[in-house]
Amino acid sequence: MRKFRLPLKSNYLGFGICLIFCGAAFCLRPSHCAADDANTSSQSSSKIQQKTLQNNQQKGIAPASTKRPYVVAIDPGHGGIDNGASIRIGARTVTEKELTLLVAKDLAEELRKRGFETVFTRDHDNDVSLADRTALANRAKASIFISIHLNALEPKNKNLVPNGIETYILNSTNDNSSKRLADLENNVLKDSKVKSASSTSNIELIVKDVILEANLKPSKELACAVQAHLKKVARDRGIRQALFYVLLGADMPSILIETGFIAHPDDRDRITNPKRRRALAVAIAQAVDDFRHRRKNPAIARQLNQCRVKD
Ligand SMILES: [Zn+2]
Repeated sequence: MRKFRLPLKSNYLGFGICLIFCGAAFCLRPSHCAADDANTSSQSSSKIQQKTLQNNQQKGIAPASTKRPYVVAIDPGHGGIDNGASIRIGARTVTEKELTLLVAKDLAEELRKRGFETVFTRDHDNDVSLADRTALANRAKASIFISIHLNALEPKNKNLVPNGIETYILNSTNDNSSKRLADLENNVLKDSKVKSASSTSNIELIVKDVILEANLKPSKELACAVQAHLKKVARDRGIRQALFYVLLGADMPSILIETGFIAHPDDRDRITNPKRRRALAVAIAQAVDDFRHRRKNPAIARQLNQCRVKD
């Protein structure tokens, strides 16, 4: 798998690395900041906490969990004036933005059943810029970011509409169909809120590059877990890579799932049919569960390690 890198000025790299080793960049991750805070807490504070714990135990009050929640940021693609892909069926137009929201809501329910916390980038039909979607996930300190879409690629042969599910990670590609698809999904970029590379400082680029590099492997593992479960409910089109702008801002492992071709009747039915849509959501939620616990399960860890990304 080839590595994606932002354009960097090499003379800033040393400074960037220094920043990271000095701990400044690590404080982008709340867990590290929390650890620092814990180390600096005073002995007297610790004694007070110990006393409070003892008092609570005597009163039969269960201690509050200090475990950091596992938050899944769910991004239903498009919304508002951006319909995404659409198809005319009789008198009605079916849009990608409505189908992605249906999948996102079912997925959130399935994840919550499994003890995950969820946060939506949108939960109704409204405009959210691509940059704001990951900014929201970063602010929520999400553990992973999942963007839900439907494939909009036009078939070469009108009588032969492709079908199936594919999961993408952020990386450069030589594959023309992946490039075309990313262009379609990035089309909404005519967005004044989106920062251009020229308005981003070199330090920001360096830190971003390090974050992207660190997230490449776990993003691939997450994509592999998702695809391994999704192929039970749909045709498997594999794990692919492309430069999807919506994934670029994520400070956590991130994937984009093309949950089917909007032009294909069976792919569309898999989402509009509540029972089939639920099966799709269950498959993604099971995959998130596998990914979260992969280090405790050698068989899953091995499977995710061995899976291949198509170029
Ligand atoms: Zn889309």
